[in-house]
Amino acid sequence: MTTQLLTTSQQDLEKAAELIKAGGLVGIPTETVYGLGANGLDPEAVKKIFEAKGRPSDNPLILHLHGAFQIPDYCRDIPDAAWLLAGLYWPGPLTMVLPVRDNVPKRTTGGLDTVAVRCPDNDATREIIRLAGVPIAAPSANLSGKPSTTTAEHVLHDMDGKIDAIVDGGPCRVGVESTIVDLTGPVPRLLRPGGITPEELEELLGQLVIDRAVTGEIAADAVVRAPGMKYKHYAPAAEVLIVDGSREAAARYIRERFTGGDAVLCFEEELPLYQGLSPVAYGREAEPITLSAGLFAALRSLDRGDVKRIFARCPVGGGINVAVRNRLRKSAGFRIVNAESGDENEK
Ligand code: AMP
Ligand code: MG
Repeated sequence: MTTQLLTTSQQDLEKAAELIKAGGLVGIPTETVYGLGANGLDPEAVKKIFEAKGRPSDNPLILHLHGAFQIPDYCRDIPDAAWLLAGLYWPGPLTMVLPVRDNVPKRTTGGLDTVAVRCPDNDATREIIRLAGVPIAAPSANLSGKPSTTTAEHVLHDMDGKIDAIVDGGPCRVGVESTIVDLTGPVPRLLRPGGITPEELEELLGQLVIDRAVTGEIAADAVVRAPGMKYKHYAPAAEVLIVDGSREAAARYIRERFTGGDAVLCFEEELPLYQGLSPVAYGREAEPITLSAGLFAALRSLDRGDVKRIFARCPVGGGINVAVRNRLRKSAGFRIVNAESGDENEK
């Protein structure tokens, strides 16, 4: 199959919608990461997503809607909190898990009795959803286990020849996947941190349980609420080691150990500390949105045969840094060292 590259012109969006209606796969831009979209109501089309990504079939997809008015079409027993959150954050980087109606195929929900829904903040993709007249099921448009894609070039790299088309909407603004909140239990539960921060959600909802999977490691055989949480994720071929601690202590720790095949992933402010080691910066520590926007592109740039180990600097604190830390820890397989104490794997 030849993968067509489409623009965001109306004519190309119509082409993309036609491909979706015909059961095809299209790479779509969103404000978080690129999605690998198919008609979410067509089990055969959805099956192709899992095949193209090499994704385990019990890992469900997110249904992308044109607007909140479509929630009752695919969800039932919708709590007030869902309307509150959709009203405030949609279109935007917030996914809600709600009880599913039986018109949504099991392939989309991974066999669960719940479904994840979101409305992406990207005019081109919302227009494709409107023109197609169906909700678009989409996970991130990367090979399973690899860092997510934040440009059309990334999608082409992972999916060339495997999907019908890619709509190039430029680089993604947020850069990490949506926040997922489960509203099916007695208390809202954060399953994945993202562009909408835990602090904001807790303030609005009054209470929020942070699922253990957000901060800790999950065993492969564990039963988890968001099946995606248990799989290896966001990982380049190289081993990633997070080095915590002050800038100076971390630079000392890394410089003492750096050998051939090693790479440094750090904040822009730290570049001078790693002169001579060809450091890669993924954003500015002082401006956390630049870290989320740049993380996956930087991890991808280091996903090369000659890089065997990546020493990575990870931001601390709340806000979107919670999401950046979550992705980086997963890509590191939770290997973290404190440069000041020398302790490994403190979480
Ligand atoms: P991706 O954005 O590629 O990570 O894929 C969608 C994410 O949404 C995965 O992490 C899924 O586990 C999660 N997800 C989708 N549907 C549900 C659901 N019904 N309950 C919990 N998590 C879900
Ligand atoms: Mg993904």
